[in-house]
Amino acid sequence: MTSGPEARPGEFETIARLFRPLAEGAPEARGLLDDVAVAPFRPGCDLVITQDALVEGVHFLADDPLDTVARKLLRVNLSDLAAKGAEPYGYLLSAAWSPRCGWAEREAFARGLAQDQARYGIALFGGDTVSTPGPLTLSLTALGLAPHGRVLSRKGARPGDAVVATGTIGDGHLGLRALRGELEGLAPEHLEALAGRYRLPEPRTGLATLVREHATASADISDGLVADLGHIAEASGVRLVLDLERTPRSAAAQAWLDRRDDAGAALAELACGGDDYEVAFTVKPERLEALQRAAAGSGERLTVVGHVAEGRGVEARFQGAAVATGRGGWRHD
Ligand code: ADP
Ligand code: MG
Repeated sequence: MTSGPEARPGEFETIARLFRPLAEGAPEARGLLDDVAVAPFRPGCDLVITQDALVEGVHFLADDPLDTVARKLLRVNLSDLAAKGAEPYGYLLSAAWSPRCGWAEREAFARGLAQDQARYGIALFGGDTVSTPGPLTLSLTALGLAPHGRVLSRKGARPGDAVVATGTIGDGHLGLRALRGELEGLAPEHLEALAGRYRLPEPRTGLATLVREHATASADISDGLVADLGHIAEASGVRLVLDLERTPRSAAAQAWLDRRDDAGAALAELACGGDDYEVAFTVKPERLEALQRAAAGSGERLTVVGHVAEGRGVEARFQGAAVATGRGGWRHD
């Protein structure tokens, strides 16, 4: 059966026409013509592997453009690699197309991938293509490389370490609220900036090496700053103290905050919202200066947001007083 752009696209046509071009230049992919991909062993390197899935209606909205969805899918995975200090190498993709995904939708999806592949210097190594009567479900496995034995973990934070966050916190959360029409009175350019950050996170790939060289422990911030600091606290067996007033904010998030009566509660909302795709890490205080100097050269933002203490869990404070944060972030059942 031939299926032109109007007919329901087939699996093999999708692979050949949309995905094969994304594998070009990567011998690992074997032209997407084999049963497997083959990556050469790299002496001195560790292969870092991470997988994240996006489900329509849960991680993106049914009317989100699919090129942006594709880029978000890639970026949420690259964010995990950055958090561990790994450089992007390649990726595998599993797509379960829903009935609404015709040729135009699939083409837009592949276009988004092509755009970000070029941006991050990676290629598609392989994957699987199926269809589903359910919601569009996309899963991506990203492969990264890091010097052997140097891949960061959530474990390793020690009392006295500083807690650092990259970029800005809360934009993804506010962006989702903006798209739902829940943010009244905010200027259009701020609403647009926030929605943009929700649709298209900025993985901190440019900071991966720096974080790897300085951090004692690290985590990707995707569930919410408080929840992800909680992961570091738990794995390291320490308590993380977060000073909410220090959390870095974009101009748009600041404009939202300025309109709130209870600044402590509003900052807690930002620190508990998900979809930041920043990196949280701990660093020995004597390394902070060198870290800040190196970061200044990279053009990336790093902010000390708290410190590590003895104990367990995360303590969020506003101007020194404890603030309740509940479960601290998003959790799937
Ligand atoms: P299998 O029969 O093992 O499922 P397929 O026929 O699905 O194999 O896959 C054939 C080739 O196409 C393989 O190289 C596979 O990696 C590639 N491929 C299939 N789907 C995708 C996808 N969504 N992204 C990238 N490569 C894919
Ligand atoms: Mg298959």
